[in-house]
Amino acid sequence: MTVATSDLITTLTDDEILQLANLTQIERLEPTGEFLKPFLVKRVPGTEGNKQVQQYIIETMTKLGWFIETDPFTADTPLGRIDFRNIIATKNPKAPTRLMLSAHFDSKYFAPGKGDFIGATDSAVPCALLLDIAHTLDKLIDEWHNPYVTVQLVFFDGEEAFKGQVPEDFIWGAKHLASYWEQPQLFAFPGSGQDKPPLQKIDLMVLLDLIGTPQPLFHDYFDITSDYFKAMAGLERRLRKMFLLTSSQTYFNTKTKYQGRMIDDHVPFVERDVPVLHLIPWPFPDVWHTVRDDASCLDMATIHNFSVLMRVFVASYLKAHPSPLGSAQNISPRFR
Ligand SMILES: [Zn+2]
Repeated sequence: MTVATSDLITTLTDDEILQLANLTQIERLEPTGEFLKPFLVKRVPGTEGNKQVQQYIIETMTKLGWFIETDPFTADTPLGRIDFRNIIATKNPKAPTRLMLSAHFDSKYFAPGKGDFIGATDSAVPCALLLDIAHTLDKLIDEWHNPYVTVQLVFFDGEEAFKGQVPEDFIWGAKHLASYWEQPQLFAFPGSGQDKPPLQKIDLMVLLDLIGTPQPLFHDYFDITSDYFKAMAGLERRLRKMFLLTSSQTYFNTKTKYQGRMIDDHVPFVERDVPVLHLIPWPFPDVWHTVRDDASCLDMATIHNFSVLMRVFVASYLKAHPSPLGSAQNISPRFR
């Protein structure tokens, strides 16, 4: 990585940060809100609920004018042959470099009689946050018009294991997409580095998971993206100083390093040398993989704070200044 990521913390002025923070319309992220409600249903791969959620993502992002691709495939799972489909929405498909923001939209299969698993934190809220980032930054990205880098949302299907008894029974969608994206695509927009496989166009992959309960604690999982983690922590400090976050507990732990390994959608990308910022709290929320992971466990202050943090991070990353004084001349040389 060539970038001085400490710039990310200081690239926007206080006034610009304030403008970005004010873009949160929290009602859209509430359990009854337009971005979250459609995900709060059972959405096990191959079921009607899963297909309805796919439809919602595609319609919403098409309406916003983003370029939609899908990655459909069928696999033999412990529950038989199942159809999966990853969904990719790209703001400017002609850009050669991508900031990839991702989450999984499927929910975990619970055997009959084990209750209804909704997965509000796993990963309905992360998906809603991706839609929120796209909708609140869309106009700014247009005005800023940086042809070198764009935002790409990836909604993974089949993150959850069906039975989890064999190592193959995890992250079905991510494994398929990472392998598919090793090849150059049959069609790619002129100027977008069309001869390059999509994997090589990813400047940074950010993966959100298990977000929505109070007081999550995030850790610096990968050396290669440690600077980005520190940038998140620095932006958090700035936002707290400006009283733009509505809780006092620190989310980004810069004091200790996490020494563990997690299976999540990032794994097949890490294995292929894609730099990953993994935004998953540790310890996991105590509702994890229980029927209690529904709308009742959600903390709106945390969701609000995360919407602000992510928006400020993405705008800083793109060096997209909401101020009228900003100018395209200031686009980072690394994207020229
Ligand atoms: Zn899960």
